[in-house]
Amino acid sequence: MRSLTPVSFLQSVAALSITAFIGWQSLVAPSEAHAAEKPTEARKHEAAKTPEAAKTPEAAKTPEGIVAELLAGNARFQAGQPLPRQLVQARAVLAAGQHPKAIILSCSDSRVPPELVFDQSLGDLFVVRVAGNVADPIALASIEYANEHLHSEVVIVLGHQKCGAVTAAATGAKMPSANLQALVDEIAPALPLRGPNPGWVVVAKGVEANVVATAAELLERSPLLKEQAAHGKLKVVRAVYDLDTGRVRLLP
Ligand SMILES: [Zn+2]
Repeated sequence: MRSLTPVSFLQSVAALSITAFIGWQSLVAPSEAHAAEKPTEARKHEAAKTPEAAKTPEAAKTPEGIVAELLAGNARFQAGQPLPRQLVQARAVLAAGQHPKAIILSCSDSRVPPELVFDQSLGDLFVVRVAGNVADPIALASIEYANEHLHSEVVIVLGHQKCGAVTAAATGAKMPSANLQALVDEIAPALPLRGPNPGWVVVAKGVEANVVATAAELLERSPLLKEQAAHGKLKVVRAVYDLDTGRVRLLP
């Protein structure tokens, strides 16, 4: 009798759960997989003439190669030289299925949109955005879905300069709502320095510490992600975005 390892069990549970998402079109696994395997001739033709869409299925690159590709995209963003996009054609191709090359857990800050910051196109990034880039259960579920089901094997935890959520947590001030309090309470324990009027150094160190803590929590709080990482199926990358220069800097 075939034994069920924790991973295969979790995969089975995840697959069953995911198929229950009828109506959330981008998450409907069976039809998506079927369509992805059997693209129409028209879609094949579209893919052939759409550079960014055509390269999307090649998510089988190494994690290091994917990170290098994203940093190259960030260099284009910094220089103001994004690649030309054929978004209408890409949209048609991607309707058959998605194979995002990476997962990004970033802050909701309007100045840090991952697709622009990494100069990526439709279908390239599975993005989870929440103030302070914290790993709450729903964010973890989104990352588990992208890793386990869509086979995205790189997750970048992306903090950013002057993060308002980190700044609020550093002040230690009482928040005006229970939800906001829950957010700062999640961030505060990771911060090395705190004070009523945190300067830029305190906030900068806090942003880095928050990224490091969140990256660790992805594995501590998700047995599925921990198992995937242990089997070389998930690489966790830590990074900070600089508002002034547009640069994404990897943390050691
Ligand atoms: Zn922020």
